[in-house]
Amino acid sequence: MTETTGASPLAPEWLAVPADLNALHAPMWAAGVERNDGGELAIDGIPVSELKAQFGSPLFVMSETDFRARARAFKDAFDAAFEDICGGVDVYYAGKSFLCTAVASWVAEEGLRLDTCSGGELAVAARAGIDGANLGLHGNNKSDAEINRALDMKLGRIVVDSLDELERVAKIASARGEVAKVMLRLTPGVHAHTHEFIATAHEDQKFGLSMAGDSTEEAGLSAAEEAVAAATSYDSIELLGLHCHIGSQIFEPEGFALAAEKLLVFLAAMQSKYSIVLPELDLGGGYGIAYTPVDTPRPAAEIAQAMAAVVRSSCAGLGIKAPRISIEPGRAIVGSSTFTLYETGTLKTVRVDAPAGADGAENVTFPRRYVSVDGGMSDNARPVLYDADYSAVLASRTSLAEPQLSRVVGKHCESGDIVVRDVYLPADVAAGDLLAVPGTGAYCWALSSNYNYLARPGVVAVRGGTARWIVRGETEEDLLNRDMGVANV
Ligand SMILES: *Cc1c(COP(=O)(O)O)cnc(C)c1O
Repeated sequence: MTETTGASPLAPEWLAVPADLNALHAPMWAAGVERNDGGELAIDGIPVSELKAQFGSPLFVMSETDFRARARAFKDAFDAAFEDICGGVDVYYAGKSFLCTAVASWVAEEGLRLDTCSGGELAVAARAGIDGANLGLHGNNKSDAEINRALDMKLGRIVVDSLDELERVAKIASARGEVAKVMLRLTPGVHAHTHEFIATAHEDQKFGLSMAGDSTEEAGLSAAEEAVAAATSYDSIELLGLHCHIGSQIFEPEGFALAAEKLLVFLAAMQSKYSIVLPELDLGGGYGIAYTPVDTPRPAAEIAQAMAAVVRSSCAGLGIKAPRISIEPGRAIVGSSTFTLYETGTLKTVRVDAPAGADGAENVTFPRRYVSVDGGMSDNARPVLYDADYSAVLASRTSLAEPQLSRVVGKHCESGDIVVRDVYLPADVAAGDLLAVPGTGAYCWALSSNYNYLARPGVVAVRGGTARWIVRGETEEDLLNRDMGVANV
């Protein structure tokens, strides 16, 4: 790291001192977020102080415009890249990343479909009026009730995760005198993570049917092939095709391309061996977004073209008609549409020994400032769960103060309750300031909890200069609603 004023040896290697602490690094923020003439962060012209006054904090602030634009961009980019291969692509928004009825309806209006993975998510889709034909159901442990619900709603596809489940779906559909539309989730042994991907023959995880040759009792037959053979033997199953999902927060297209190639080779082999046609192939989600300035997401068009090139050449090489391709982005559509607004409270500075090997830092301590906010791990569990990095800016005003290495922490009774592990904030941040953490649209509200009896924050959607609740924040009354009371003790 180059020496800059304010640079701390306690900062991780990747974190540079920003040239301007008040600047917004565009890839991390939703369209329409900028500083207004007074220096305050605003979305569609609405200053954060106004959002705080009207809706309180912590608060998820989502740009509906940005969400819709990213959804549409994925659909358009993949349609264009795959037009000549399979007539376009079906894009399933991964509802688990963030779902409510408003978002489900935007997804449908932008021409996307919706992936669910529980009865509860199906209930949201039903309440939003989404046509069952445009829904998929995932999950490694679907209950009979969930399978029945999927059949009641005439789902476009049930993505079957195991041999055990295939049999159950077949039985339930048969008892109803119906035919279930099924995809098989395979594990191609390709794992992608951020800037690398690794390929392994064997799978040691709960999801999916292994493609490795000796993965079942029947020597030489993979679980994936056994499932194809079984699926084609049931009258109550219509086997649409194959599915894989290789990971999340992936930046490089190579992992997706390798998985596509492996699945196409397998698809071609199954078609000729069992004299069947598998008309669909789903390549999952996992496209990365910018949480910090060092994350470099690729435009949807670039990923689409790289994947299209592999599908085109693989199908030509195998001499098969290309299946209809589908994908399942979640984070890449909703992640950057949202920031979390917090109010700062307690501030504290500790002195920390320099990390071993830091230049000229022996026996010297350095300050780290803890900036507490009014939420924490209950509204963003990802730092605790995955060591996820985030960034933050002072939102209520600009500041010309020196950069100070800071750690944004929550108010929970856990020392691991960190929102942003390392960020340079202006040294004059004070109690009562507002902070904004970008990139919190995916897997934050969705994973939120009531730990320490904090009310879960609501989500405000902003469009055309107007802000409205799409999910209201919880109240103290909500917190006590399911408590049966002392009279029942
Ligand atoms: C989680 C998940 C997705 C979405 O992943 P993102 O990283 O949000 O794009 C898609 N498909 C499946 C099967 C998943 O489990």
